[in-house]
Amino acid sequence: MNFEKIPMKTPLVEMDGDEMTRVIWQMIKELLLEPYINLNLEYYDLGLENRDKTDDQVTVDSALATKKYGVAVKCATITPNAARVEEYHLKEMWKSPNGTIRAILDGTVFRAPILVKGITPYIPNWRKPITIARHAFGDVYKNTEAIVPAGAKAELTVTCSDGNVQTYPVYQFQESAGVLQGQFNVDASIESFARSCFNFALDTKQDLWFSTKDTISKKYDHRFKDIFQEIYDKEYAEKFAQAGIEYFYTLIDDAVARVIRSEGGFIWACKNYDGDVMSDMVATAFGSLAMMTSVLVAPDGTCEYEAAHGTVQRHYYKHLKGEPTSTNSVATLFAWTGALRKRGQLDSNERLVNFANQLEKATLDTIESGVMTGDLASMSALEKVQKVSTQEFLLAIKEKLEASL
Ligand code: NAP
Ligand code: MG
Repeated sequence: MNFEKIPMKTPLVEMDGDEMTRVIWQMIKELLLEPYINLNLEYYDLGLENRDKTDDQVTVDSALATKKYGVAVKCATITPNAARVEEYHLKEMWKSPNGTIRAILDGTVFRAPILVKGITPYIPNWRKPITIARHAFGDVYKNTEAIVPAGAKAELTVTCSDGNVQTYPVYQFQESAGVLQGQFNVDASIESFARSCFNFALDTKQDLWFSTKDTISKKYDHRFKDIFQEIYDKEYAEKFAQAGIEYFYTLIDDAVARVIRSEGGFIWACKNYDGDVMSDMVATAFGSLAMMTSVLVAPDGTCEYEAAHGTVQRHYYKHLKGEPTSTNSVATLFAWTGALRKRGQLDSNERLVNFANQLEKATLDTIESGVMTGDLASMSALEKVQKVSTQEFLLAIKEKLEASL
């Protein structure tokens, strides 16, 4: 084939990872990217061995590079637990790389399903993706809680920096013992969350919904609502109007009802706990975790793209034994196309943007033609379905891609 390779002006930050996704990562690069793009990548090996070797410095460095260049693509990585410490003879139980990266970029995670014909969502009127944005800071995840004996008096005490003390009554326990919980959040984090959401809505030209329980939580949740509204009015209302999209606040109960009745095609911003629960519900209803992308967006617009699933350990052990695998590479592939498209947009590199779109189309066309990995084959409503191996699937995409170039 006579194809002039696409140049890249600015580096894309590449974060390599672990197990089956690391295997897929290499295949995607070799088969679907390197032959067509003069890849300009700044490589960081976030595989567990190298994180251990560098005392996890490589994770920090990769996040700083992302800040510098604006776009990264990340492979799934192992978050070590006791079993992994033993398996990899680790010096320490290193923290989750995603947690470290998110703390440095101060970003919000947006999760969106990839829809294909033949895989019907459990909610059939969901014809477009629903993207969940979860505020991954504070509330019940940083709570302080206690079991309280009968007869105890519970109060909230706030000591200000000037020494001034304010006390708020919580509850006078009577004959029954009980439980108590303290929660907090901070304006700066809510503001970052709001800006990430508004920027992502503009980027993807989708409406943004935000919901809390402000009728019951008149100070705490109401603060979230007010911060979103103030930032929207001041910084985004005009841009939204120009883009022809809408910002819409509603009570969480109402949001749930509307989401179920909707046809999709919007971003739903949620407080931490709501986002935790709702993202699992939405992912399941759309069919498969292997078809879910995830992008971390910082308030300054910096983006890190990845698949929402993990390293698919069970398939990796089969692969190591030399057995054939049928692991779905779509979410990992879409992490690459998402990152390359964004890089292309930032650099006004139209060929790169087009290539990302063509590669996504070739992937969806492949599945819609009946060629797919085992996880999808078992769900597909198509009449003729051919279950293929991890590599055969990528080769089938390559064939469709080449026909379109
Ligand atoms: P997982 O990798 O998401 O896989 C769980 C199961 O889901 C798999 O065994 C497989 O089911 C199915 N699955 C997930 N992705 C698939 C794909 N692409 N194609 C086909 N099937 C897929 O979760 P895990 O096994 O619980 O976790 C493994 C490691 O991933 C852990 O060490 C965890 O720390 C890490 N993890 C990393 C991230 C991240 O980096 N963002 C996120 C989550 C987990 P079957 O076995 O039934 O085929
Ligand atoms: Mg959850």
